[in-house]
Amino acid sequence: MTQSYRLLHADDGAVSRALIFFGLVIAAALSLAVLFAVVFTKFFGLPAGQDDFMLTTVVIAACVASPMAGLAAQNQYRVDRYQTTLEAMASTDPLTGLLNRRSFKTLAEEELERMRRTQNSVYIALFDLDHFKQVNDTYGHAFGDRVLTSIANLSHAALRGPFDRLGRWGGEEFIILMSEVTQEQAHAVCERLRKRIAGADYTFNGKTTRISASFGVAKLRPEDGLTNCIEKADALLYEAKNGGRNRVRSEAKIRSAA
Ligand code: GH3
Ligand code: MG
Ligand code: MG
Repeated sequence: MTQSYRLLHADDGAVSRALIFFGLVIAAALSLAVLFAVVFTKFFGLPAGQDDFMLTTVVIAACVASPMAGLAAQNQYRVDRYQTTLEAMASTDPLTGLLNRRSFKTLAEEELERMRRTQNSVYIALFDLDHFKQVNDTYGHAFGDRVLTSIANLSHAALRGPFDRLGRWGGEEFIILMSEVTQEQAHAVCERLRKRIAGADYTFNGKTTRISASFGVAKLRPEDGLTNCIEKADALLYEAKNGGRNRVRSEAKIRSAA
């Protein structure tokens, strides 16, 4: 959840699930042993010289079931981890580890559903690196990849934990969902990120460059839907590019200017 690494939490519950599975297998084996002993003694009576028949049956069942349950739990743990890794790989961008376009859209649609109940105020920002082609052309594609990864890490660190979700929209374009913010706050979050991106040095293999980004910020409205909101953010981003790049354009500014 790569930021599969960001999505794969250190404790994603796989160990607890494996332990529960282990316990269930043992409990099932012991229950079967007790059932067997009860039915056996009911129909055939106690075997000769076996006063502790029930206890013996349960102990034998425990001895046989424990290693088998251990192996089964270990296998369950591996399958569980494998599935989590596959899910993380399917939902993240392999270069930056951020949410990919598909999983970002799923997350935003879920947020829209919640908004219909909670009236939460949510903004979406699209940002695109300025003149990124020049970086590739000057320093090479591998260098460009390192810049993209740095921007992803820097942006992830600059945003507000669980309230902001970051994705790679495609190429050198990123997307942020900001939850529980006013227009001014959403604008300020992007302005802060814009300054951090523009203020950083990007140094790899002894070569250093600087880069900026242009932002478009639009309000997510349940009545308009996600596609409309992203189109608006894209139009505002286009305005930011036309306005000279390295700037944030938000709906708030447009409305107040109108
Ligand atoms: P603008 O300021 O108008 O956005 O200019 P730009 O050069 O950033 O935009 P343009 O669309 O002309 O070029 C985008 C470049 O981003 C071209 C493409 O090769 C590069 N790019 C897209 N994805 C990747 C990637 O994963 N790695 C690298 N290194 N480059 C990428
Ligand atoms: Mg660009
Ligand atoms: Mg672009």
